[in-house]
Amino acid sequence: MMTSKLAWFETDKCFIDGRWVAARSGAHLPVEDPSRGVEIGAIARGTSADIDAAVDAAEGALAGKWGRLTATERGRLLMRLADLVRGRIEDLARIEAIDVGKPIRQGRADALALARYMEFYAGAADKVMGETIPYLDGYTVYTLREPHGVTGHIVPWNYPMQIAGRTIGAALAMGNACVLKPAEEACLTSLALADLSREAGFPAGALNVAPGLGEEAGAALAGHPGVRHLSFTGSVAVGAVVQAAAARHVAPVTLELGGKSPQLVFADADLDRALPFLVNAGIQNAGQTCSAAARILIERSRYAEVVERMAERYRALRVGPAEADLDVGPLISAKQKAIVSSFIEEGADLTLAGEGSIVADAPGGGHYVAPTLFANVKPDHRLAQEEIFGPVQVAIPFDDEVEAATIANGTGYGLVAGVWTADGGRQMRIARALRSGQVFINNYGAGGGVELPFGGVGKSGHGREKGLEALFGFSTLKTVAAWHG
Ligand code: NAD
Repeated sequence: MMTSKLAWFETDKCFIDGRWVAARSGAHLPVEDPSRGVEIGAIARGTSADIDAAVDAAEGALAGKWGRLTATERGRLLMRLADLVRGRIEDLARIEAIDVGKPIRQGRADALALARYMEFYAGAADKVMGETIPYLDGYTVYTLREPHGVTGHIVPWNYPMQIAGRTIGAALAMGNACVLKPAEEACLTSLALADLSREAGFPAGALNVAPGLGEEAGAALAGHPGVRHLSFTGSVAVGAVVQAAAARHVAPVTLELGGKSPQLVFADADLDRALPFLVNAGIQNAGQTCSAAARILIERSRYAEVVERMAERYRALRVGPAEADLDVGPLISAKQKAIVSSFIEEGADLTLAGEGSIVADAPGGGHYVAPTLFANVKPDHRLAQEEIFGPVQVAIPFDDEVEAATIANGTGYGLVAGVWTADGGRQMRIARALRSGQVFINNYGAGGGVELPFGGVGKSGHGREKGLEALFGFSTLKTVAAWHG
């Protein structure tokens, strides 16, 4: 059977209560290889019945063995899981590359990030503490950090392994029991994570994975009254729907949504250092990165020089299938290619500054788009305002610090920003002026760094994943006030 070639585990099932089970509907969804546009396997088409079973299993885990483990024991399990991930880096990288179409070295980087999330949260699990609060005479008051209970996690297709890792790692460290709904376009490594959790010895029901369509399994999870906290990573439109569904049973929601992130290049910037970051942060993962640096804002006195040096890099970019491990792979789907291509067509009135090339032997049927750099773009142009989610960057000139910050803050999004300047005072002023969840000074992390709290403001969402901060989101604070006279 084709699916057996894709991975070492059962790719066409749900993982519920520690076991591989077929979707209750008996139906499947196709797995597509975006490098070729052909079907290479099948995944389960989970629906509300599977979500109900997964939530029941998670509740059972909390009432049973999982709920009784100490924080140290949870940390130990996460560390065992991290070790198993490290032992499977090449397998995981290959599966992710095939499923998402990303160059194999990006798959490897994602697998390493998954291991790092597990290690980080393994170490953190028994270091989350409450506090004692000075209060009235005769009282002792303290706080307890407790898990929410059953947590729901809905993740997208662009970095499935990294995003599942960060949200599941933190939630499990805090003692929640998780139901994960991966994206229908790419869910294989979420299933791999489930299988490795079983091998690591997590009690049944601690982590459940139910693949399926967003409007079926996803909607069922978002609206399930047994889910005490929802973590959603994806588009603004679906994030709003998920938040509304959770509001019906007053569940808190973390939303990690899109972005139109800027990098600001001042005339005194170290360009040799900046250039690889300026371009890579736009084309990594074929631009399908929430924190992609989609807008490059450049001080006018060096605008032409920076654009030309970026264009030079663009002309050297090669696009091809995942296994060729070139600069850029295909987009995830024909639908995504159509969306990105129509944005590029809309740039007909702009200056086409630089373009990469699709290699001649790229398989027909693959969803390839040549990376495109547009120059002389007005800040209010649609290509400078809307998230494209493809390998497209726009270069915008500015005249001074205030204008740079105004343009940077002018999209309604606020996920990540980069600032390139040698002036220490300006670094501090701009970092404060930017409406953004993360600001990188003389570097650009594209959301990297498991230790760094990550999330947005405005249309980019609310709440924080990653770092120790995520542990607070995945827990609730109880205040205990004892009168003893
Ligand atoms: P999407 O919103 O279409 O899908 C995300 C997830 O939501 C998928 O699992 C999908 O099945 C599910 N879903 C769809 N409809 C649903 C519904 N009605 N109810 C519940 N769940 C539903 O997003 P996408 O196209 O998969 O991902 C691209 C978007 O994600 C981009 O906007 C990107 O910026 C954003 N993103 C954000 C981050 C971040 O950390 N901020 C990371 C990656 C991607």
